[in-house]
Amino acid sequence: MSDSNVRVRFAPSPTGPLHMGGVRTALYNYLFAKKLGGKFILRLEDTDQTRFVGGAEKYIIESLKWCGISPDEGVSVGGPHEPYRQSERKPMYRAYAEELIEKGLAYYAFDTSEELDAVRERAKQAGNANFQYNHITRNSMKNSLTLPAEEVQKRLESGEPYTIRIKLPRNEEVKFEDMVRGWVSVNTANMDDKILLKADGMPTYHLANIVDDHTMEITHVIRGEEWLPSAPLHVIMYQFFGWEAPTFAHLPLLLRPDGNGKLSKRDGDRLGFPVFPLNWNNEETGETASGYRERGFFADAFINMLAFLGWNPGDNRELFTLEELVEEFSISKVSKSGARFDFEKAKWYNQQYLRKFSDAELAEMLLPVLEEKGIAAPGSNTLERIVALVKERAVFVSDIYDEGSFLFSAPTEYDEKSVSKKWKGAESVEIVNDLIARYENEEFTASNLEASFKAYLNEKGVGFGQAGPVLRIAVVGTMTGPSIFEMMEVLGKEESLNRMRKTVQDLG
Ligand code: GLU
Repeated sequence: MSDSNVRVRFAPSPTGPLHMGGVRTALYNYLFAKKLGGKFILRLEDTDQTRFVGGAEKYIIESLKWCGISPDEGVSVGGPHEPYRQSERKPMYRAYAEELIEKGLAYYAFDTSEELDAVRERAKQAGNANFQYNHITRNSMKNSLTLPAEEVQKRLESGEPYTIRIKLPRNEEVKFEDMVRGWVSVNTANMDDKILLKADGMPTYHLANIVDDHTMEITHVIRGEEWLPSAPLHVIMYQFFGWEAPTFAHLPLLLRPDGNGKLSKRDGDRLGFPVFPLNWNNEETGETASGYRERGFFADAFINMLAFLGWNPGDNRELFTLEELVEEFSISKVSKSGARFDFEKAKWYNQQYLRKFSDAELAEMLLPVLEEKGIAAPGSNTLERIVALVKERAVFVSDIYDEGSFLFSAPTEYDEKSVSKKWKGAESVEIVNDLIARYENEEFTASNLEASFKAYLNEKGVGFGQAGPVLRIAVVGTMTGPSIFEMMEVLGKEESLNRMRKTVQDLG
């Protein structure tokens, strides 16, 4: 299927770092558009000046770039509907709000915030917790529906601040079919007359969002479930303007691993995983957050994992590149219920992607890790052999060093548990000395070393369980790790024997 008229948008507000749930929304929009040969637009919804955070826009753009989700139009790339930042589109919104006033579908409201607070307080005392400015209460408020026309005119001319509110019908059923949730129906009797234009002249989210989606020719609105309650209002606004509404899809929430709440930064801090794609550092407030990129995740693995939080292809395949996701994705397979986040699964994805690389590629990726740790890198041949030995145990590239650090430099201490369990004083010293004597004349290949070791066990009548751990402790200081003979081959004769001699001295 191909429909090049499809236009979707990702419309984050630059109020802080982009949450991974936001990245998933961007991803589903992107996959939907690309699958149908359509366009993916990045629009910044920055009309709420009080929530604006410097650096957030840059962060959003960089995050999408890291993930390979590239906009066809938008703040970072331009396009036929520029500007793509709502703050720069400010002059155009007022006319739309006024158009609705002329049609009798919106009105001016002059109530000051003190007056509104007082009404709210009175409602609370009367036992109605939430005052709503609606088809009933608007009749006793200060607005262009209740004030005489001349007074309204006078107030407008005097420069007195006012808002423009939508005038919802009394009792009308608003219905739309959501691609994820099916039919949604709400009665306007349960809705309130939302502000469209604020006293500072800025549009609210609702007005700017609808006007932009219409003028940018957006065909499908794919966004988080938290926007579902706003959708009926948006549907009415499209009707009021006489525009065709886009098709909606509201995506399930990302849930925390251990409860039903929405996955938050606090959950990440508490359980030790990032909830943002990149590290974040707010220079004004000093607030920081950790990101998947810096944690060592591959972008492909991160994207693959995210795609599966709320969607699956309907069979047991789990590994998909971005291109493969484009091929396979369909909104009809997005689930209605929340998707529980599982960091162990995220790590599993990374491990799968790590295993796709050759030893040479991983060795190359390991170089900056070593440099950062101040570890001298061995020659590329040796490095690749080390990679081959330890990569099975690695989830992140840096694990290759962590799992095999004793292959880069002699251990500075012995693992206490291994020593107390397996090192038996003089008996162990004798084994190590015997092996040093044998290995001095041996060619240092893993198979030779192993054969010679077995011959020694036979001659001496010593068990593998006794001598094996002793040899390991003597060479790498611990009982764990890859095959000892493979490790000795990589370390070479001189280094291996020096380490064994030193252990005899240290633990003797
Ligand atoms: N600016 C809204 C947000 O921050 C966009 C909601 C929508 O996509 O309509 O999520």
